[in-house]
Amino acid sequence: MDKMNRKRWMTVIGLLGCLLCFWVGEVFGYEFKLPPLPYEKSALAPVISRETMEFHYGKHLKGYLDNLNSLVPGTPFEGADLPTIVKYATGPIYDNGAQALNHILYFNTFSAEPAHEPTGALAEAIARKWSTFEDFKKAFSEAGVSLFGSGWVWLVKDRNGDLFILQESNAGNPLSKGYTPLLGIDVWEHAYYLDYRNKRADYMENIWKIIDWDTVEARY
Ligand code: MN
Repeated sequence: MDKMNRKRWMTVIGLLGCLLCFWVGEVFGYEFKLPPLPYEKSALAPVISRETMEFHYGKHLKGYLDNLNSLVPGTPFEGADLPTIVKYATGPIYDNGAQALNHILYFNTFSAEPAHEPTGALAEAIARKWSTFEDFKKAFSEAGVSLFGSGWVWLVKDRNGDLFILQESNAGNPLSKGYTPLLGIDVWEHAYYLDYRNKRADYMENIWKIIDWDTVEARY
């Protein structure tokens, strides 16, 4: 094959490669899409109103996913899932990836007919650490109320299954510190301001009514 022919073939193969990548991307969806809610937007009212859901899920979470879709292409994170992005990314990709994962965990924690208390191994781990479920709830609520500024309060487990309450600023997700997130409550003002105005403590007190402990336990 002469030099000119080889060059032509390389161009053809290159173009076919591009087409294949495009087709794979289209078919397998290397793009972050807004996952459906497991309940109606009004199902959690009055703890979380339909209006808050419309903004928080429909605009905030969608915004983080849209940002990722414009930030990730052309970086080593192309095709990576959210946990991988949260573990290894920094800067705006971490911020938007962590916020996306945090919100998906958050919205999937709730139910209109929740299991109000943990059972089994998670209940035992809570009892080991805080004596009673009520004591745990008090400590968790206090952590949410006392976190300064925007962020998340988390119930996490380490590799041994021991539990911890973490306060994380801004997008902080426990995966980046080697913990497994079990329960994450958003204490950014956008999570509660429409329903509770400035009363974050009221939001933290009411949120227990919709947390489904079967879901939290499944993550343990
Ligand atoms: Mn939020």
